Amino acid sequence: MSSPEVTVVGAGVMGLTTAIRLQEAGASVRILTAELTASTTSAAATGMCGPVFAGPNAEWELATVAELRRLEPSHGWVRMETGLGAATSSIGGAPPFADESMYVREATASEVPPGYASGTWMRVPLVDLPPYLDYLVGRFVNGGGTIEQRVVESLAGLDAELVANCTGVGARRLAGDESVRPVKGQHVVVENPGLEGFFLGVTFGPENASWHPYGNHVLLGGVRVEDDWDPAPSPEIARGILQRCIEVEPRLANAKVLAHRAGLRPSRPTVRLEAEIQGSTKIVHNYGHDGTGVLQSWGCAAQATELLLS
Ligand SMILES: Cc1cc2nc3c(=O)[nH]c(=O)nc-3n(C[C@H](O)[C@H](O)[C@H](O)COP(=O)(O)OP(=O)(O)OC[C@H]3O[C@@H](n4cnc5c(N)ncnc54)[C@H](O)[C@@H]3O)c2cc1C
Repeated sequence: MSSPEVTVVGAGVMGLTTAIRLQEAGASVRILTAELTASTTSAAATGMCGPVFAGPNAEWELATVAELRRLEPSHGWVRMETGLGAATSSIGGAPPFADESMYVREATASEVPPGYASGTWMRVPLVDLPPYLDYLVGRFVNGGGTIEQRVVESLAGLDAELVANCTGVGARRLAGDESVRPVKGQHVVVENPGLEGFFLGVTFGPENASWHPYGNHVLLGGVRVEDDWDPAPSPEIARGILQRCIEVEPRLANAKVLAHRAGLRPSRPTVRLEAEIQGSTKIVHNYGHDGTGVLQSWGCAAQATELLLS
């Protein structure tokens, strides 16, 4: 029997992991993408893959953590990292961890920075996105896949029987789904002044302070700007990020700024992961992962594969 031919639209983390799982299931896969991987939202992400809390998405997230743990011994772009999550007001305890090994302990009062009410030490996989995405592209191409840069105007007009729609925020137009909205995020990349471990400030608002070290550089965040379609880093947002991070960690004050990265999180009330038939085309939609797409990717990729090839 000949292998099924599948077209995946999108070369972010969702398109690449879906394409790889499809290949592993025996499909012959091509990716069509408007932007090459390095210019996607995925390339601008932090890559914090946890903590995984009990809830409806836990199964997808645990699948990703399992794959990252499998890859960790042989790849430098993923490592288990310990860090502090601190909240500005007491939230009466976090939801239960679905992966208990990610919970380290509650922070003592002296470990919680000024302005924060409580904190939890945790240990999660931390992925350096640019080299990780390079690895995914290589794994897909070495598996016989092709990547073609072009804008797709219509999913049903692709002359393909099987299509995976992994277009992130682009699904608003391509799938005609007005519940998809951009939520811009941004990082300032600085030289590491000696930070070990990550910090995630939880403010319950659109701005926070966070840092994630990757050897000699650190990603500083964060921000959520709703309905902003401009993917370019904003100097004003960068100034705010630096100011908030330096307030919590004064060692960042003299850190050399190396780069700025921004991306549009594909926000949607819920992830869309379902099959749809249009004419003779079976489409599986896999988009709308907002700020947890890296964490959910391998689980969603497996489910998209099952839906498409069943
Ligand atoms: C600052 C920031 C920090 C983040 N941190 C984390 C984190 O720590 N952990 C986590 O899990 N997630 C994080 N995220 C969220 C994560 O980045 C996203 O959920 C994820 O990247 C979405 O992946 P995607 O493949 O769906 O979309 P994208 O990466 O946007 O890829 C979409 C692809 O579709 C293509 N496309 C769109 N329309 C068309 C079309 N018409 N024709 C052809 N191609 C098209 C694009 O060119 C692109 O290749 C963060 C995001 C930001 C911005």
